[in-house]
Amino acid sequence: MSSLNETPPLSFSDMGLAAPLLQAVSDAGYEIPTPIQEEMIPHMLAGKDVVGQAQTGTGKTAAFALPLLTRLAPDKTRSPQILVLAPTRELAIQVAEAFEAYGKHMKNLRVLPIFGGQDYTIQLKQLQRGVQVVVGTPGRVMDHIRRGTLKTETIHSLVLDEADEMLKMGFLEDVKWILEQLPGRKQTALFSATMPKTIRDIAQKYLTEPVEITIRTKTVSAQTVNQRCLITNGLAAKLSALSRILEAETFDGMLVFVRTKIQTVELAEQLVALGYAAAPLNGDIQQSQRLRTVEQLKAKKIDILVATDVAARGLDVERISHVINYDIPFDAEAYIHRIGRTGRAGRSGEAILFINGRERSMLKSIEQATRQKIQMADLPSTAAINKKRIDGFKEKITTALQGDTSFYRTLVNEYLRENQIVPEQLAAALALLAQGGRPLLLEEQKVPVAPAPEQRYTAKPRAKTRAVGRTSNIQLPPEEGMERFRIELGSEHGIKPANIVGAIANEADISSRHIGRIAIYDSYSTVDLPCGMPDDTLRLLHKSRVGSKTLRIQRLGEGIETPQPAARRQKPERFNGGNGGSTGKGRKKSVHSGPVL
Ligand code: AMP
Repeated sequence: MSSLNETPPLSFSDMGLAAPLLQAVSDAGYEIPTPIQEEMIPHMLAGKDVVGQAQTGTGKTAAFALPLLTRLAPDKTRSPQILVLAPTRELAIQVAEAFEAYGKHMKNLRVLPIFGGQDYTIQLKQLQRGVQVVVGTPGRVMDHIRRGTLKTETIHSLVLDEADEMLKMGFLEDVKWILEQLPGRKQTALFSATMPKTIRDIAQKYLTEPVEITIRTKTVSAQTVNQRCLITNGLAAKLSALSRILEAETFDGMLVFVRTKIQTVELAEQLVALGYAAAPLNGDIQQSQRLRTVEQLKAKKIDILVATDVAARGLDVERISHVINYDIPFDAEAYIHRIGRTGRAGRSGEAILFINGRERSMLKSIEQATRQKIQMADLPSTAAINKKRIDGFKEKITTALQGDTSFYRTLVNEYLRENQIVPEQLAAALALLAQGGRPLLLEEQKVPVAPAPEQRYTAKPRAKTRAVGRTSNIQLPPEEGMERFRIELGSEHGIKPANIVGAIANEADISSRHIGRIAIYDSYSTVDLPCGMPDDTLRLLHKSRVGSKTLRIQRLGEGIETPQPAARRQKPERFNGGNGGSTGKGRKKSVHSGPVL
């Protein structure tokens, strides 16, 4: 195994990060910096402006949080030093939590997420108590700066996270306004998955000689491996998907990739508890033990290894028939290395990748790098698993019949003579005993088609957006499960679909995936949202603003009657930079249907 003797990769402790941060990174179980961290951290520690082309899942949050926290000046007053702008409240909370986790060994560190939809007074109190790190959505940050409740003079570092998403959601002007309010001398880091011209222009205007970092991947082919991809949202879903795969797939050896050392141990323990011969493999385990574990895999004493990228480097075991990317890798190169652990010595191999909704862009980079489309697969069905269980049970009986059964045959005959039952009844009772009280079959799980209305208005909605034809110029009724709302802002107020999506997504915490058709007329607009919006949310939305204008949203039919759209209309403008016309005289200016992200 060449891998275990390779030159050690760069470690976090070689990078000049402050000791409390190194401790937190170690607590988190990170083994080595991800490629974006390796490139970005030294420049950020040197105080340079940076532009990073990186998507979610690359480790970009730590790439800016660790150096910025290292550079945090000690202060007693706790005035804001770091400001992070994020497109959604979900991301703002996530980034704030990451700052807290990385800064947990720092004394007196206070981090505050601020976003629309939350009561101002809560945020005000926290701001007054003092915070060094503020992570917020542009609209709410702007409000606090205007009110004088967020002081900008002491801010020396600014991060624009997911800049392209902020642009898509109509926050460009807000972001520019905020940038104008900040001190001239500051360090700025801009992160974006894509680099459209508008983002480049911002970088050019507001950043000083930024270092540009793009993690490029060579294209490689991975042809002996059959690649599939499964959507799994959340930890429980991942474990359940893995246990279904373990039951439904015929595998010999399996390598499961996770991100951290802690996860290798936890997942291996969970698999052992499910009855599999599994073991962890990570960089903390002594070399001799790691070699022993690999030998055990070769000797079929272990069937599943749960590993980090570092620990599995160069691993060459012929019997690995399956590689599961339980956590998506940080870049396409790591993916290619991972799946190369199967399909060895001329065999074919299977690679299954678990992704969540936010990781789709990483999937795209992987497909580009491998020049292969990864097939979307369904979870193994309950019927398929049960068929395997029944086949397995029958096989056990066949194997047992090949052993010495003479003693039990005598016993069984004796029982049949003593009791008035047929052999079939006796066999069934013995099968029940053999199962030890566990049901042989998996119960059919009902897959919810769409979440209940109240679930759609929680922090992480899951339902799919129902898109209707984007170019339709006919006023279609709302899709099933959606209802139509009217907004008192139209094209004459300069409103765009992205502004509406941005305001609703942030203020009402509705994922943009759930925001349906948007139609913009001269003086008002309509938007379709999932049925059952709670009154509180509606009240909040009613007051929320796009720039300085209030949405005054209400259910269609409540209050003002909506005029019927004009009979003759121009072809509506497509939302996402499409080429629909907008030159006609008709009153409906644009239509947006379905997801924007
Ligand atoms: P991000 O791209 O910032 O959203 O990070 C994606 C995930 O990677 C988060 O769950 C982080 O906790 C995790 N992560 C970040 N850096 C590392 C690292 N060096 N090693 C392992 N996991 C990491």
